[in-house]
Amino acid sequence: MAVLTKAAIFIFNFTFLNICKMAKIGINLSTGSLQKEEIIVGIDLGTTNSLVAIMHPDTKQPIVLKEFDASSMVPSVVYFDEFENPKVGEAAKSFLEIAPDRTIFSAKRLMGKSYQDVKNNQSFFSYRIIDDNTDSMVKVQIGDKFYSPIDLSSLILKELKTRAEHILKTPVNKAVITVPAYFNDAQRQATRDAGKLAGLDVLRIINEPTAASLAYGLGLQKLNDTNEKVIAVYDLGGGTFDISILRIVDGIFEVLSTNGDTYLGGDDFDQVIIDYWLNKNGIPKDELIKNKSLTQTLRIKAEQAKKILSKSEIYEDVVEGISLLISKDNFESIIIPLIDKTIDCCKNVLKDAGLNRSQIDTVVMVGGSTRVPLVTKMVSDFFQTDINDSVNPDEVVALGAAIQADILSGNNKETLLLDITPLSLGIETAGGLMDVLIPRNSKIPSKASRQYTTQIDGQSGMRISVFQGERDLVKDNRKLAEFNLSGIPGMPAGLPKVEVSFLINADGILTVSAKELRSGISQSIEVRPQNGLSDNQVEKMLMESIEHAKEDIALRALTEAKTEGEQLLNTTEKFMVKNKNSLSNEELLLTANAMQALQLAITMNDKNLIQQKIEALNDTSRPYAERIMNEAIGKAMSGTKI
Ligand code: AMP
Repeated sequence: MAVLTKAAIFIFNFTFLNICKMAKIGINLSTGSLQKEEIIVGIDLGTTNSLVAIMHPDTKQPIVLKEFDASSMVPSVVYFDEFENPKVGEAAKSFLEIAPDRTIFSAKRLMGKSYQDVKNNQSFFSYRIIDDNTDSMVKVQIGDKFYSPIDLSSLILKELKTRAEHILKTPVNKAVITVPAYFNDAQRQATRDAGKLAGLDVLRIINEPTAASLAYGLGLQKLNDTNEKVIAVYDLGGGTFDISILRIVDGIFEVLSTNGDTYLGGDDFDQVIIDYWLNKNGIPKDELIKNKSLTQTLRIKAEQAKKILSKSEIYEDVVEGISLLISKDNFESIIIPLIDKTIDCCKNVLKDAGLNRSQIDTVVMVGGSTRVPLVTKMVSDFFQTDINDSVNPDEVVALGAAIQADILSGNNKETLLLDITPLSLGIETAGGLMDVLIPRNSKIPSKASRQYTTQIDGQSGMRISVFQGERDLVKDNRKLAEFNLSGIPGMPAGLPKVEVSFLINADGILTVSAKELRSGISQSIEVRPQNGLSDNQVEKMLMESIEHAKEDIALRALTEAKTEGEQLLNTTEKFMVKNKNSLSNEELLLTANAMQALQLAITMNDKNLIQQKIEALNDTSRPYAERIMNEAIGKAMSGTKI
């Protein structure tokens, strides 16, 4: 855990001195004692930049934490030197140009994703993303080390935690973290894991548009207020665009629909400015691509021009004899097609929500690119309603997260607090891992379901063991119930589809059911998750999960790698037996060697080695697997039965 050293000297302005007054002693991780009035920070873990904010104890206004004279934003960039020491934020950003293969940006785009999900955008990333041709989670390879997006995000979160601790002069162990509204369960869980790995108890994951609305005071109605509002949150950042429609009733936010473009933002505005200058100077694009340093200079100049044109009528400069002249009118005419694309998304999001634009009460603007006046104008013309753009669009999400943190800390007594699950609920999966279906702090009532399958050919039963807790291995959690789903008809491993559903009703009673979808057989059980657990026990379980976060997550990664390796050995073996006549002796020998190496790596319990050997086995089998597949397709096309 980060400790404050006496040697660390920082200059604080007035605001910081005032904040320090509220500094309380936080969790002591070595003794496990938990202070009641602990600071909870709000974190915006962004694709390009991340921020940390708190509620100011005196002004009761949320503020973003920044060291004197520094930016409030920490670039979401991680660089690893050749000894694998990480640098994060501004210190890492300069390596984007000089060491692109060791500098990771946009890790958020990889959170909770498999290689299949990201392979079409591989060219966007300058670092190596592992293609193991499976549905497992992506990893980034730097030298001979592998990093998951969770590892990378945890380094950014650790940087924010350290920044907050330096400024507040107190340990910071609790946080609310924001995620895009469209993040699925796996992406939300990955964000929770990253927080845990950074030593943070993630009290709640909230949607970015919800946080932005909170920062404008929307949804913060008093207990008796039953006002209903429908809000559009328009978020145009550097590289992504999101539009969400939210409905707030009694302080409860519901996401009605989301839309957007994951590769559209201010960077595209910069690019069209560069294209405009090249065109005016008669320089072909290919010529520029060859000159890397000029490309970089023009990119910086274009961003500068864009920002200046948000306030002035003209931008003028000369670089290496190239005239960089552009007027506000020129700029606006070249970005209209880009803004039009966002308006198309707005039309779609309304259609998905089943609403027309007159039903939108208000629009909230988020993201640095909404500072472009034409963006605000076109959005306001489209929705024909009020636009909320008075809060700094870079900070608005973090500020909202701090407001949510303040509500959770119990300081904001007038705002409605929902009943929530105190600990995560899940089931045991391969290797004794805890698979969370309902994360802690989910509002009650709540439901979730997920599909599982069998590991062995002809498996006729499945044991469903229900656990509660935050640890990654079920043996460290609390077992609530167990039942067998029997009578699954004989099928090859991986074919049965068993849907496990968790339902917590308004009284906090959990019903777990399992159904094999192909045959329809089902079974269920009822439990009271809260039974027998005091507040102290819940706190103890949370403390343990933070203390053991590092080893737990490492163990889970190892178990997942072993399971994946074993499954690959299994399928390769079956494939070899079935197709041995179509394989050359050399192919048989190379595959046998690669399988042996993978088996050995699994026995050695070395996660990185297992991942390397999985990749090597895939590389060996891919060429002939494709060949055999093509042959089979060829035969089928010529009318021969396979
Ligand atoms: P975000 O991802 O929300 O931090 O937004 C970053 C984007 O906002 C980048 O493309 C910036 O160039 C852009 N941006 C920041 N300030 C301005 C400004 N004053 N005018 C136009 N674009 C801006």
